[in-house]
Amino acid sequence: MSQSATTIAAFDNSYARLPERFFTRQAPEPVPAPELLVFNDALAQELGLDLTEGTDLAGLFSGNTPLVGAAPLAQVYAGHQFGGWVPQLGDGRAVLLGEVINTSGERRDIQLKGAGRTPYSRAGDGRAWLGPVLREYLMSEAMAALGVPTTRALAAVATGEQVLREDGPLPGAILTRVAASHIRVGTFQYFAARGDTEALAALTEHALARHYPGADGPRGLLQSVVARQAALIARWMALGFIHGVMNTDNCAISGETIDYGPCAFMDSYAAGRVFSSIDQFGRYAYANQPQIAVWNLAQLGSAMIPLMPDQEATIADFTEDVNGFSAQFEQAWHSALCAKLGLDGARKEDVAMAFELLTLMQAGQADFTRVFRGLSEATERARDEFLNREEVDGWLRRWQERLQADGGSLEAAQAGMRAVNPAVIARTHRIEAAIAAAVAGDMAPFQRLSQAISTPFALSEEHADLALAPSQDEAVTRTFCGT
Ligand code: AMP
Ligand code: MG
Repeated sequence: MSQSATTIAAFDNSYARLPERFFTRQAPEPVPAPELLVFNDALAQELGLDLTEGTDLAGLFSGNTPLVGAAPLAQVYAGHQFGGWVPQLGDGRAVLLGEVINTSGERRDIQLKGAGRTPYSRAGDGRAWLGPVLREYLMSEAMAALGVPTTRALAAVATGEQVLREDGPLPGAILTRVAASHIRVGTFQYFAARGDTEALAALTEHALARHYPGADGPRGLLQSVVARQAALIARWMALGFIHGVMNTDNCAISGETIDYGPCAFMDSYAAGRVFSSIDQFGRYAYANQPQIAVWNLAQLGSAMIPLMPDQEATIADFTEDVNGFSAQFEQAWHSALCAKLGLDGARKEDVAMAFELLTLMQAGQADFTRVFRGLSEATERARDEFLNREEVDGWLRRWQERLQADGGSLEAAQAGMRAVNPAVIARTHRIEAAIAAAVAGDMAPFQRLSQAISTPFALSEEHADLALAPSQDEAVTRTFCGT
């Protein structure tokens, strides 16, 4: 099945040069009949990939055709899953092909997800079915278009093979994921748990060089990751995004959103909103995300303690650094939330006004995205989203008065608000519909949704229906792990 090796980029595989115990060298397992479903031309250009018209993209991004310069491997890591320690995880269905330098001079991992069994697959088959592949594609590209740090999707390829899942056989697929790196909190935990200080030191040095060249040592790394995660979670909160599986192995050192499984942008607002079918106790509910990030960062800090000479002093320092998350997060979150309303996140009264709106939204089962977009366009539109409209009137009046104070105007505020409040997001019911159509062989709904979310702040007339909230019948309230 494998074809002659092809050159598409100058690979420079820094992770593959780390000690052998960081990974297992593993080529993707060939698939019977690869067929290209989607390809992200813009991202390919950013990466500077050398693709001519005749390039067999399906062969390349299924793993069937070897890439010249790639050094395929499966990374090992550990992690806390739902708070429970798992000493060894790893790429069980993914293979890192290697790293390239993009046209902006940034290092990027190219990984195939669903590429077959690895030593870390355990009971799994190492494959993915079409659903989670298209879901990750749409969600990660939606986040990128919204300006949120995230891994990217370069391609989705159907394998021509069925994979067996709970509900029976499903069409197999492979996602090509692009990331600043795939180093996770769980990667540090893996070596810490083994008392492998030498590996920890090498990993720290590698992560610093790659992501935080200005930072110094383990403490510098911890502080940098805290800052990035605080900024990231604030962005999630401001978009009503729920990751769903914030396990330490799904927390990237780079500060990118990674591992889109049962994630979702919420429709109607509720602070305790949970989508993931396996999140029984709501550990990863919307409003819990900042706290969970702190918990994850504490695990990163703990893992690096053995690298420091004075452990007692280090515990005090690292605790202070991790606790520093709260102030940074709050500052970023309040300013993002206030910007959504044309308000000033530095003013206590404005922050209070913004939170009052969230309380009204929850009581009125109002759609998160549509309320903010509505306020950015025509106040009436936002009001219509609430069940408790009369209760919202007082708030709306005070808000408009506030915008007009100090010589401001509603219209001027709204122009700015339209640049931060998306008109269209990748809604769960639309993603599910696109997947169902794709399984039946029709990629048109996927393409249409993909196009609409690529310009989330400017909705075109022809995509107007994609901005609608789901009806009660359409609403999807449960999402499933992407395996
Ligand atoms: P996730 O919940 O997607 O972050 O995955 C948790 C762990 O399970 C990771 O180590 C994955 O590599 C592994 N895993 C998930 N799905 C599969 C699969 N189909 N085959 C093998 N391993 C898998
Ligand atoms: Mg994961």
